[in-house]
Amino acid sequence: MHIDIRSLFQNPPLDTKVVVKGWVRNRRGNAYVTFISLNDGSTIHNLQIVAEAQDFAEQLIKQCTVGACLEVRGWFVKSQGKEQPFEVKAQEILILGHADAEKYPIQPKPHSFEFLREQAHLRMRTTTFGAVFRVRHHLAFAIHKFFNDRGFFYLHSPIITASDAEGAGELFKVTTLNLENPPRTAEGKIDFKQDFFGKEANLTVSGQLEAELAALALGKVYTFGPTFRAENSNTTRHLAEFWMIEPEMAFYDIHDNMNLAEEFLKYLIQYALTHCPDDLAFLDKRYAEEENKKKKEERSEMGLLEKLNFVLEHQFERLTYTEAIQILLDSPAHKKKKFQYEVAWGIDLQSEHERYLVEKYFKKPVILTNYPRKIKAFYMKQNEGEDVGKETVRAMDILFPGVGEIVGGSQREENYEKLLTRMKEVGINPEAMWWYLETRLFGTAPHSGFGLGFERLIQFVTGMNNIRDVIPFPRTPQNIEF
Ligand code: ATP
Ligand code: MN
Repeated sequence: MHIDIRSLFQNPPLDTKVVVKGWVRNRRGNAYVTFISLNDGSTIHNLQIVAEAQDFAEQLIKQCTVGACLEVRGWFVKSQGKEQPFEVKAQEILILGHADAEKYPIQPKPHSFEFLREQAHLRMRTTTFGAVFRVRHHLAFAIHKFFNDRGFFYLHSPIITASDAEGAGELFKVTTLNLENPPRTAEGKIDFKQDFFGKEANLTVSGQLEAELAALALGKVYTFGPTFRAENSNTTRHLAEFWMIEPEMAFYDIHDNMNLAEEFLKYLIQYALTHCPDDLAFLDKRYAEEENKKKKEERSEMGLLEKLNFVLEHQFERLTYTEAIQILLDSPAHKKKKFQYEVAWGIDLQSEHERYLVEKYFKKPVILTNYPRKIKAFYMKQNEGEDVGKETVRAMDILFPGVGEIVGGSQREENYEKLLTRMKEVGINPEAMWWYLETRLFGTAPHSGFGLGFERLIQFVTGMNNIRDVIPFPRTPQNIEF
């Protein structure tokens, strides 16, 4: 059996014979000896393979090109060099897979992330992407662990749904109708009665509504699955297919909700620091190099690891939307007309406003609550006793440095009449959502929940600037090659 390179570094079986398998990252040497850096993905560390010319046919060594896949048998020993603690003195080398050195696109030199996105089938073989996807794995695992340890149940919400009431974004339609010649109704509209499900269906934009149904039965649940939004926003923070974690808890008010979200985020960051120290140390260095390329005034004040630890050590700043607007109105940026978008009570905060609050004013994560009712979803619990036109809902959004909104959540409206009225006001057909409304008729209860964008979390933890570089195969407008 071969052994993972990770195990060799963790528990070095010095002076024993080992079998390793992996891909050549680099190769150097001279007429007498060749040094091969081998990586098998189990760790960020490469294993040095030492092949002496006298032991191997020249032809074989020539085929150990960058990108080739090798099986190596040899002695695992302390390294003579200072660059690495161990090495394998090769006795046998088998080429499992050749790589034409002229054609292999991933060379041992820095490649731009734009270029690597076009090589998504191979980019996981680079140091940076290996690190990012190992961190991604550990965070996904930590999410299940966090909730399982606290008595939450994992709910599999559907991916295909008929509910389009979320209003969270544009929908991807799901249909088996013949697009060339779809059946039509008497009025000339497409007749979805003849479609697979007998009505219009789409890919889910959120599992929240189903999670609410489950919370009112199982108590504390969470979903963790892919969500789809056909929003045509080409930003560094939006994907058309992304993963979301949506806990939903019966008997939680908005404060319990905020406490849980803060504890959750800190747990995940701590988990990554504990379980991915080597990958994060590399990403920290990479981040520093990236920042150094920027103009001084645009550089982040903290390094990546510093930032992660800072978030762990500080309470998130909690304030209301109304207070946030006042801070923005009083800001030098506003007075000097530096904001591109206007600031006034009732606006949907733009990313420049969020950045000012998080990065300039508080310099730490911020939880904003009690947003204007008009800019938030219909299911959010309405606050009482407010002036006409200034009604608010118990929403809570968490804003993080660099990534902006990372969590969006709220206490839910549990009152049947209020929910029904609100649905009609915003033009949602209550009949289409009778099942959702019925939970408020039969044993309704106060409850709350939130959605965490998984990729935005990974962006924050890894310091990767573009959301396309934290998901293996990003889906964005005009982009579905891999
Ligand atoms: P934004 O204003 O940034 O578009 P949103 O208000 O549409 O976010 P929600 O509907 O509240 O977001 O979704 C919950 C979380 O899902 C967000 O806080 C964010 O972390 C993440 N998210 C939302 N849209 C996307 C997207 N297109 N790609 C990746 N993550 C997303
Ligand atoms: Mn959005």
